[in-house]
Amino acid sequence: MVLADIGIRISNALKKMTNSTVINNEVIDEMLKEISNALVTADVSLKMVIELTNNLKKALDLDSMASGHNKRMIIRKAVFEELCKLLDPKIQPYKPVRGKVNIVVFVGLQGNGKTTTVSKYAYYYKRKGWRPVLLCVDTFRAGAFDQLMQNAAAAKVHFYGNRTERDPVRLAKEGIERLKADPEMFDLIIVDTSGRHKQEGDLFEEMKQIVKAINPNQIVLVMDGSMGQMAYDQAKAFKEAVKVGAVIVTKMDGHAKGGGALSAVAATQSPIIFLGTGERLENLEEFEAAPFVSKLLGLGDWKGLIDILKTSTANDERSKNLNKRIQAGKYSLRDLYDQFETILNMGPISQLMDKLPGIGQISQAKGEESNKKFKNYIVIMDSMTDEELDVPKIINQSRIARIARGSGRSIKEVNEVLMQHKTFEKIVCSGITNKFKSGYGNIGASQRMAKLIPQNVLQQVGGLSGINNIMKQMGGNLKDMF
Ligand code: GDP
Ligand code: MG
Repeated sequence: MVLADIGIRISNALKKMTNSTVINNEVIDEMLKEISNALVTADVSLKMVIELTNNLKKALDLDSMASGHNKRMIIRKAVFEELCKLLDPKIQPYKPVRGKVNIVVFVGLQGNGKTTTVSKYAYYYKRKGWRPVLLCVDTFRAGAFDQLMQNAAAAKVHFYGNRTERDPVRLAKEGIERLKADPEMFDLIIVDTSGRHKQEGDLFEEMKQIVKAINPNQIVLVMDGSMGQMAYDQAKAFKEAVKVGAVIVTKMDGHAKGGGALSAVAATQSPIIFLGTGERLENLEEFEAAPFVSKLLGLGDWKGLIDILKTSTANDERSKNLNKRIQAGKYSLRDLYDQFETILNMGPISQLMDKLPGIGQISQAKGEESNKKFKNYIVIMDSMTDEELDVPKIINQSRIARIARGSGRSIKEVNEVLMQHKTFEKIVCSGITNKFKSGYGNIGASQRMAKLIPQNVLQQVGGLSGINNIMKQMGGNLKDMF
């Protein structure tokens, strides 16, 4: 049984309670029993399941609930909140600070996904404008150096390692000293340590010494989502050895039940910051308890979507500038570039759609295809001169050939970019400014979103009205919940 099925079981228990003609202690007990069973099946630690049911029993004392209150709603809300509590220690994780060199160390058992996760983490921050560097201090596993170096190349981030140094503590110390010496170059040093099995006292000692030598700002524990009941004890062992400040749970894409690793929060009293949802660099999802539980129970990740809308259409400098230029009837290749980047920063479009309830039809392949196209367009635009970006009409045949050569893409693709720009320019500068005289500022959220989604994907969700429906549906679900 995978985590999603467990969500369905809990959701069904809630529905059964909601649909019963009377709400009495028996109905509540039956619901609690079903929820506990589902959580135990998901490998949530027994201790925590008992705590959760006890808390709920206390909160759901029918005698103290004033008559006239909507008991069903109170119960649903209490269950939702307890589930969130299970996953949220209410402690803020360390967030890298701009303008200084931040050091983050990753620890965890062998094979849990540290090397993969540090690479995703570096990629994530790079896309946010940081200058990360991956530091390999795994001298234990053969091939660790090459694995991380290759990952760093794929993520296009810097890498530091030393094939001949056998002492991980010395390597860590020396690496940090050298990387810190160049604060202009790096502002986020991400350290990948060697894997260890719980029993290996030596490796635990090594981990402690590394931490002592480099004094990191944050220690992240990486845990495999398919780890069962033993996850709690293992997380605890790590916490007792070093100051774990955050958790990342990996392999949440496969058949992981997740409950074991997810409840490591309790063992470490550290928040989960990301979930690993695949082997690729972009398969790292920010984690927050409430949206996660909401999605688990089939209510849709409304907050995730709203966040995406906010960041992609925020009143940031870029859209303000764009707004001004559009009003002046100008739309350059640079603007197109910005828009493609915005789309790419939203992550694969399939992941975006994944956040919506009832819309799973967009295959990952399709989403990836669109994203790849955008990436190639950006590569092409990177080969243009500033002048070409600002005044696209100067791009003639010989310039097109040069851009194709410089970017390693075909002439056909360069022409595609120029066509895209012309089309967008037409829409943006004529149609839109007439319709919405005051520019971007007044376009509704769904219209903004529609503009950011590639046409083929937009069609699949039913165009603008489809997006409107989705947003309404989410609102409806929220009302339904509380
Ligand atoms: P380490 O020993 O802790 O450094 O673990 P690795 O990063 O080498 O990962 C071990 C295996 O797990 C590799 O085959 C990874 O591709 C795989 N892996 C890591 N994270 C994920 C994930 O989120 N999803 C999936 N499906 N596989 C993952
Ligand atoms: Mg590794």
